Amino acid sequence: MKRISKVAESIEPSLTRKLFNMAKQYDDVVDFTLGDPDVPTPNEIKDAGCKAIMEGKTRYSQNAGLLALRQVISRYNEYHEGLTYNPEKEIIVTVGAMEGLYLALLATIDEGDEVIISAPYYINYKQMVAMCKGVPVIVDDMENAGNLVCSYEAVAKAVSNRTKAIILNTPCNPTGRIYPDDFIQKIAILAKEKDLLVITDEVYKCLTYNGGKRPMSIASLPGMKERTIFVNSLSKEFCMTGWRIGYVMADEEIVSAMTKLQENIAACAPLPSQYAAIEALRTDRDYSADMARIFSRRRDILIEGFEKSKMLKCKSPEATFYAMIDISKTGMKSEEFAYALLKAEHVAVVPGITYGRMCDNYIRMAFTLDEEKIRDGVSKIVHFADTFATK
Ligand code: PMP
Repeated sequence: MKRISKVAESIEPSLTRKLFNMAKQYDDVVDFTLGDPDVPTPNEIKDAGCKAIMEGKTRYSQNAGLLALRQVISRYNEYHEGLTYNPEKEIIVTVGAMEGLYLALLATIDEGDEVIISAPYYINYKQMVAMCKGVPVIVDDMENAGNLVCSYEAVAKAVSNRTKAIILNTPCNPTGRIYPDDFIQKIAILAKEKDLLVITDEVYKCLTYNGGKRPMSIASLPGMKERTIFVNSLSKEFCMTGWRIGYVMADEEIVSAMTKLQENIAACAPLPSQYAAIEALRTDRDYSADMARIFSRRRDILIEGFEKSKMLKCKSPEATFYAMIDISKTGMKSEEFAYALLKAEHVAVVPGITYGRMCDNYIRMAFTLDEEKIRDGVSKIVHFADTFATK
């Protein structure tokens, strides 16, 4: 008997996890692999979660999440995004954005449906599409490898008569880039013309370094709300990765299908986390601005560190807590560089190839470490790369 399913067999553990696990062998490692912020969840949010636990709010909620939380999510998005979603029918609370993405795909993708994912991409999209028996179509726009973004034309060329959806991620993990408004506008026109769904993952939209201007959401464009599945999370914005709380906003038909599936997967997001989220998403207190200030300072330290290097160039991120470092001058490809760096300097980074072929001249660093560790790690990476320069 073959015990393991074809789907399970087709899923490969990511290089991100591989490097993270390899890093564990060194006590003195500086680990830039995971986008898991070391910054604690703000106290008021923690208090709200603890209070819920102490008051016995430790049971199941409705599958779609507490109505009080969905109302807060609706108000928050109306206030910050100008997006209007009905809390009773168009919002579902999920176990992080990951479950939101998975439910969104499970609710909409049939076997063989193609889902377009433009590189550089968050690796889990590809795996999740495969888990739903869809076909991930990776757009690796080698002509634009130097810019680390796919052109609109490359995305449009990938559309076939089996395409069901496009996944967008802006600001983008791993690049920290914000897709320009005209790219988003063109994708919207394409989606309407070809009758496609758009799954937009906007979990980093509050961590921007441009004075707080939020990137354009495709959901806000005319005729797009009904074909957009908007995925968000509290993980990054409020440093709440372990609380496992996120949400999806979409039209009633899709949210209702996702809610049915939710009953059979997680039942609901953790209830204490739902109460904590009610505090986090208050519109009269901007916790995310505090987070953006912390990461903005770290970003500056990182960029400053790489300015000293003869061999490496840091693509300054516009948002997120990720940076891509151009290693092409070293003559090494990304995996070789990452393994050699870990061995020589005990610094862990993610090889760019993880995010598409167009990233093979890059490594990704998550600056989710304190300032001193960032300085130390960057100077070790620069030392490692610059020894190649003198050889
Ligand atoms: N989308 C992107 C682009 C991410 O980088 C991540 C986390 N690394 C997620 C979704 C998942 O976040 P969550 O913790 O909310 O599941």
